[in-house]
Amino acid sequence: MTELLEGNSMEQNEKKELLSQTVEELEEWFLSAGEAKYRAKQLFPQLHKGLSPQQMSNLGKRVQEKLAASFSWHLPVVEQKLVSAIDGTVKYLFGLADGHCVESVVMKYEHGNTICISSQVGCRMGCKFCASTIGGRVRDLSAGELLGQVIAAQKDMGERISNIVMMGIGEPLDNYDNVIRFLRLVNCEEGLNIGYRHISLSTCGLIEGIRRLQEEDLPITLSISLHAPDDETRSAIMPINKKYGVSALLGACKEYFAHTGRKISFEYTLIAGKNDSVENARKLADVLNSHLRTRTEGMPIHVNLIPVNEVSETGFRRSGREAVAAFQRALESKGIRATVRRKLGSDINASCGQLRRAAMKEKQTPKQGENQCITDTAE
Ligand code: SAH
Repeated sequence: MTELLEGNSMEQNEKKELLSQTVEELEEWFLSAGEAKYRAKQLFPQLHKGLSPQQMSNLGKRVQEKLAASFSWHLPVVEQKLVSAIDGTVKYLFGLADGHCVESVVMKYEHGNTICISSQVGCRMGCKFCASTIGGRVRDLSAGELLGQVIAAQKDMGERISNIVMMGIGEPLDNYDNVIRFLRLVNCEEGLNIGYRHISLSTCGLIEGIRRLQEEDLPITLSISLHAPDDETRSAIMPINKKYGVSALLGACKEYFAHTGRKISFEYTLIAGKNDSVENARKLADVLNSHLRTRTEGMPIHVNLIPVNEVSETGFRRSGREAVAAFQRALESKGIRATVRRKLGSDINASCGQLRRAAMKEKQTPKQGENQCITDTAE
């Protein structure tokens, strides 16, 4: 009897997540469950609009019951929503099935709505200026949870989301398989149908991941969080640099461009007194030019300058306006195109990791039965 019960509970735990399934996998499942294959194409688009199988009356009770026996279904739940009075940016704190929380931000541009999604609960990369990494990584997000952020935000706003940036909490290439599955799901014609060219993925520079990505044939835009021109400066603010130094990283970028023909953009967070001198800018231009360009050819280089968002725990200060302008001029004088990122949602603290952290601090003592953000860090 005990064995039987244990067997059953094992089975319960092994339920697959419905939102992580591809159309082909659903087709196979329907056939194996003795149902018609066309059901998959009936189910998939409705799932990607945010409906649960229970809400899909056109499936019929028998199919709904079979689905419930084999799959779990959960869409991220809006725990908090902040809307910027300045520019309409919307920031969500989403609750996941196990009570953990992640953040997503929707920014409104003329060319459409862009969502910035999280790829992990927390992060283990340890960048010194970043709020998301303070408590470490709790777990990876599944493909369904990555997709769920887009679906839930779109459903809540009642507006189409046409662009995605993977620049929220977490390191996408540290959750490689789920991220790739998500990219294919979100691009699927029967679902959200978001073009790869409308998707950007940002990484702190996991070289193995960059090499794997170039083989996937996914024409997304890759962004590299560089933040420093040399190993000494970079290792002081990004521990990952001790494993993959600047030269090796830029070498991988060159290879990626040669292989895919897709240009890479570089992120550079400006921190007062750490990486924002004109000398740093000149070094940056030299290192980018020498690795990625020859005299006659090479990758068009674009650097996005981001004055650091101050996070109380880090003590880092943002560079002054003068320093930012001087840095930009120094890059441009050496042929590197540089833009300063416009800050959206400044009144709602829209930079990543801060809302989740605030919620974690508030909810130190979870009460049973409530949908809680689980605190994952000793403070
Ligand atoms: N792990 C990935 C993606 C998440 S972070 C990466 O490192 O790229 C997204 C971007 O925000 C990165 O460029 C990151 O360095 C930057 N960032 C993190 N904290 C920041 C802060 N406090 N101010 C400005 N940019 C920050």
